[in-house]
Amino acid sequence: MINQENIPSPIEGSLGWGINEKGYYGEFGGSFVPEMLYPNVEELQNKYLEIMNEASFKEEFQSLLKDYVGRPSPLYLAKRLSKKYNTKIYLKREDLNHTGAHKINNTIGQILMAKRLGKKEIIAETGAGQHGVATATVCALAGIPCTIYMGEIDIARQAPNVARMKMLGATVVPAKSGSRTLKDATNEAIRAWINNPVDVYYIIGSVVGFHPYPDMVARFQSIISEEIKWQLKEHEGTENPNYIIACIGGGSNASGAFYHYLDNKNVKLIAVEAAGKGVDSGKSAATSILGKKGIIHGSKTLLMQTDDGQIIEPYSISAGLDYPGVGPQHAHLFISKRAKYLNATDDEAMQSGLELCKLEGIIPAIESAHALAALNKMKFKKEDIVVLNLSGRGDKDLNTYIDYFNLK
Ligand SMILES: *Cc1c(COP(=O)(O)O)cnc(C)c1O
Repeated sequence: MINQENIPSPIEGSLGWGINEKGYYGEFGGSFVPEMLYPNVEELQNKYLEIMNEASFKEEFQSLLKDYVGRPSPLYLAKRLSKKYNTKIYLKREDLNHTGAHKINNTIGQILMAKRLGKKEIIAETGAGQHGVATATVCALAGIPCTIYMGEIDIARQAPNVARMKMLGATVVPAKSGSRTLKDATNEAIRAWINNPVDVYYIIGSVVGFHPYPDMVARFQSIISEEIKWQLKEHEGTENPNYIIACIGGGSNASGAFYHYLDNKNVKLIAVEAAGKGVDSGKSAATSILGKKGIIHGSKTLLMQTDDGQIIEPYSISAGLDYPGVGPQHAHLFISKRAKYLNATDDEAMQSGLELCKLEGIIPAIESAHALAALNKMKFKKEDIVVLNLSGRGDKDLNTYIDYFNLK
């Protein structure tokens, strides 16, 4: 689903750092979808904000976040980590959410959206399986059948998550085309949606895809920065840190952590991409730096591609970061320099992950360990306040940690 023709010129009137009426962040975003899906996508575009603003929707969303997900997630002052980096570091503990990461914030929101729209079936794509598990979870919760598309190679690599999805009642369908990984799973999910656009709702797992998904997912994840504001106020007497650091695959945990700070330029926003074996090694997922403008999954953004527009297969030791693009808002924040995009290699992330274990007794997801690795690449003042979004826990990564550090 890549198509570099018909790329529109930038649309005037973008509302600040948010999205404009046509679904663009600056020149990025939009909705390039097959004609068969127009009515469905338009329905969602026309209704998502209205539905999200209904009092009954907000109430149900808030109550599930509290009693089912376990929110608010703590904002924890990591004293030993702070001492090491000679500054003040808070960890936003998304790792403590039900299912182990931030992804559940979004899937809870979208299952409620699907119900409001009267949909009877859910489909989703998944790479490492984390979004698949979060989707299967909320489908069980809502009693709605779901089908998860997953690349054949990922199914073999991520057996425990496949088992989880099946236990939760989902049907897992292997994507056998192309490189048999995430982008192929996404293509299959879109194909399945075209076959039954009226009854099916598609739950996308990050701030990617066509309008309104990037904006809708960012709004569901914005609970992260909403909480950081009042929690930091309690701890420090100010809502505003000097830095917010988050890892970035598609970009949803970063978007959620940045959301309420986008207009405040005193808060520096740092996104950390996976450099894999090194940015120039040919085995990387440093999408914003290596990416060129193009269209993937219905949205104009920055993506890793060859000169003739073939997507370059991304690589990272963390399965959750190896998406070949970034969400359109991140492309805009990158080009406009509102946020800074750093990257960390596999080795740097693994060492930083282990460091957090030893210093704080927290085993982070390897994705989150990339955010931690940025601490080594930045210069802080002692009085700075740094909030680092710990997007997930490391249980799912135990085998990778075991192999890497030879812990057998
Ligand atoms: C999926 C995942 C990510 C990457 O996704 P974003 O949309 O960029 O947030 C990061 N951390 C964890 C723990 C994940 O499961």
